[in-house]
Amino acid sequence: MIEDKNQQSTPLSDLGEFGLIDHLTKNFKIKHTSTIRGIGDDAAVLEFKNKKIVVTNDLLVEGVHFDLSYMPLKHLGYKAVIVNLSDVYAMNASATQITVSIAVSNRFPLEALEDLYAGIETAANIYNIDVVGGDTTSSTTGLLISVTAIGEVETGAEVYRSGAKPNDLLVVSGDLGGAYMGLQVLEREKEVYKVNPNSQPDLEPYSYIIERQLKPEARKDVVKLLSDLKLKPTSMIDISDGLSSEIIHICKQSKVGCDLYEEKIPLDPQVISTCEEFNIDSTTVALNGGEDYELLFTISQDDYPKIKANPNFSIIGHIKEESEGMHLVTRAETRIPIKAQGWKNFNA
Ligand code: ADP
Ligand code: MG
Repeated sequence: MIEDKNQQSTPLSDLGEFGLIDHLTKNFKIKHTSTIRGIGDDAAVLEFKNKKIVVTNDLLVEGVHFDLSYMPLKHLGYKAVIVNLSDVYAMNASATQITVSIAVSNRFPLEALEDLYAGIETAANIYNIDVVGGDTTSSTTGLLISVTAIGEVETGAEVYRSGAKPNDLLVVSGDLGGAYMGLQVLEREKEVYKVNPNSQPDLEPYSYIIERQLKPEARKDVVKLLSDLKLKPTSMIDISDGLSSEIIHICKQSKVGCDLYEEKIPLDPQVISTCEEFNIDSTTVALNGGEDYELLFTISQDDYPKIKANPNFSIIGHIKEESEGMHLVTRAETRIPIKAQGWKNFNA
């Protein structure tokens, strides 16, 4: 398991609330002209001229969304930012600012929060985001982290879940199921570790899927690519809860049906081999696993030439009339209705 390398342990009470906030946020530099005032006043002040603004928030709770026995705090900070940016990009917007709120119990020393903020800072730098505020409070149980992301989009360029039309193509970026299988491997190693703390797991064969779970990326590049291709999707959503759940969101909100082809679902070889090892069906994992943070979108058939040769995208199906329903067309060509499953949290 990943040990905290930081040996020091300074109690948070040594700093006090304001000292802590200053300490954690002192490195953040403003990058965007839309940020008029960042951290340090009662509220941040932003100015977006004539752009549309998108706002989104995600709350991550220890024991529900993350397990610190295998999630290093630096990765957690990074991931907490990424999951929010992914929602901004899913609107075809560019992310510009975040606020970060944390609730921490006294079992966390200052060094732990430094690690968390190092991850936040890394994500903010890589994705070119200003951290413009937040809140800091204590918790009697575990760690909570809530991130709000703000983004901007040219009026008319925003993409909703509701715009898919019959005959549109259903497209997904990247590959699916990796984050879920990475979690399966980490959970297994955690159990092994409990029995034998001296065991040294060889995680090398799982490096890609573990990274998908512990250090996901958001598809900022896809938004840029779509813009370069002058391609506006008719609908878009990010894949946080699994492909079937997201397809259902698009179909319900667009009042359409769809055919999704099992053989077209993009899977990394490591996902396939790990599914074999765990005796899990890889299609089920792609459909119902979560946290891949890829973008799922629909495009008009006329736009097909713009994406057909692009290795970032897979065409996995097409949109139909609502009355035709939503189906998975299997390799054996049977048609199975797509059902929502989502994952963990409430139905765990
Ligand atoms: P207030 O009393 O108005 O809530 P705070 O003392 O909580 O103000 O916060 C002071 C400043 O630091 C504000 O700009 C706030 O947005 C920012 N801030 C507080 N906590 C955090 C945090 N965890 N991460 C980033 N910024 C924070
Ligand atoms: Mg406050």
